Amino acid sequence: MSDQVKYVLDEERIPRTWYNLMADLPTPPPPVLHPGTLKPVGPDDLAPLFPMSLIMQEVSTERDIEIPGPVRDVYRQWRPSPLYRARRLEKALQTPARIYYKYEGVSPAGSHKPNTAVPQAFYNKEAGIRKISTETGAGQWGSSLAFAGALFGIEVQVFMVRVSFNQKPYRRALMESYGARCVASPSMETNFGRALLAKSPDNNGSLGIAISEAVEVAATNADTNYALGSVLNHVLLHQTVVGQEAIAQMELAGDYPDIVVGCTGGGSNFAGIAFPFIGAQLRGGRKVRVIAIEPAACPSLTRGRYAYDFGDTGHMTPLAKMHTLGSAFMPPGFHAGGLRYHGMAPLVSHVKELGLIEAKAYHQTACFDAGVLFARNEGILPAPEANHAVKGAIDEAMRCKEEGVSRSILFNLCGHGHFDMQAYMDYFAGKLVDQNYDESELAMALAGLPSVPEPA
Ligand SMILES: *Cc1c(COP(=O)(O)O)cnc(C)c1O
Repeated sequence: MSDQVKYVLDEERIPRTWYNLMADLPTPPPPVLHPGTLKPVGPDDLAPLFPMSLIMQEVSTERDIEIPGPVRDVYRQWRPSPLYRARRLEKALQTPARIYYKYEGVSPAGSHKPNTAVPQAFYNKEAGIRKISTETGAGQWGSSLAFAGALFGIEVQVFMVRVSFNQKPYRRALMESYGARCVASPSMETNFGRALLAKSPDNNGSLGIAISEAVEVAATNADTNYALGSVLNHVLLHQTVVGQEAIAQMELAGDYPDIVVGCTGGGSNFAGIAFPFIGAQLRGGRKVRVIAIEPAACPSLTRGRYAYDFGDTGHMTPLAKMHTLGSAFMPPGFHAGGLRYHGMAPLVSHVKELGLIEAKAYHQTACFDAGVLFARNEGILPAPEANHAVKGAIDEAMRCKEEGVSRSILFNLCGHGHFDMQAYMDYFAGKLVDQNYDESELAMALAGLPSVPEPA
């Protein structure tokens, strides 16, 4: 095994296709349903929101889907992203484990999100769309779509969850630098936002609310489409460049992961690194333990119910079967803003039900402890969301130490934390509180789930 710490592929090794896990699953996930008829939605139902090319990807069962040339050309700016062996961290932990991380913070927006923002902007431009509306939590997705919109000449309007809008002015400034318009959600720009503000003028917002506003704008304007930064099949699909590159880089390292770890908000960076490995396993390759890490304050995979639910608070989206905390979920104000969505990607939920992945929930201070230890050894300061994956990897490495075995652990370092310094300052000041999602609130939000009869 080599002593290298950094595994770099040249440009020609950027994947030519995205990998679609649907092709290898033993059973397909349950269909997405129309909220009125409770019948499976067809491509035409989604046409007011998305270009047909993305809708076809959403429902595709083809294994390899070609990445358009202009998208690969943009990927070239930062892809293939580096894979590192965390040798100094291993030493600090005195673990026999081999820890690798794939670093997605090298993109212009500083996270994995441009991997899907770029193709989404490309396909919308190709379809003659003038403007895209979207939501953002911590601002990672909004800034990624703003970047992609600038490249392809598409106007971008971002509804930013109000609490983040106030807490993270620099992300907003980045979106504006790329030319996007960013408004706090709930806003006065939609019927849904106005109605919420009439009831509670100091509504802090949530991702579910911001999605409703962005969908409303797209549904009521012919030249405007909607884009989502996670959860949907086509978004997870675009992120598989991460795992495909990682497979090639692990080969360079002469190693193969026993364990793959990712943090989960809506599930896209996790799917991006994990699905290509799960697919290889399903096609007869080596078995991998795949672990999703989520915040204890928003525990959809570990404490949510696997049920049909709306993707948004205003109930404008179709119904998808997923692990959900209920669309009325109001997350406590903790800092991993990107991990505060009430539902999990239907495809990630499905592989969890199939027993192909495990899930764990961690409190935020333990994740910051892990992130700071990581930074002091590896030099990269992770995004607060990514700290969950760091913590997950460190826990597995410590287990190797206890058991006296050397396993290979790969995790997705999905973004840097340079725009999240306030969260780190709060952590150093001892101001972060660990919260569990309240049992009675969970019960209340789950009581509001739509009733969908089991298919005969
Ligand atoms: C958006 C974001 C997440 C959460 O979204 P996923 O779809 O679960 O990946 C996690 N980490 C970072 C850095 C993000 O920007």
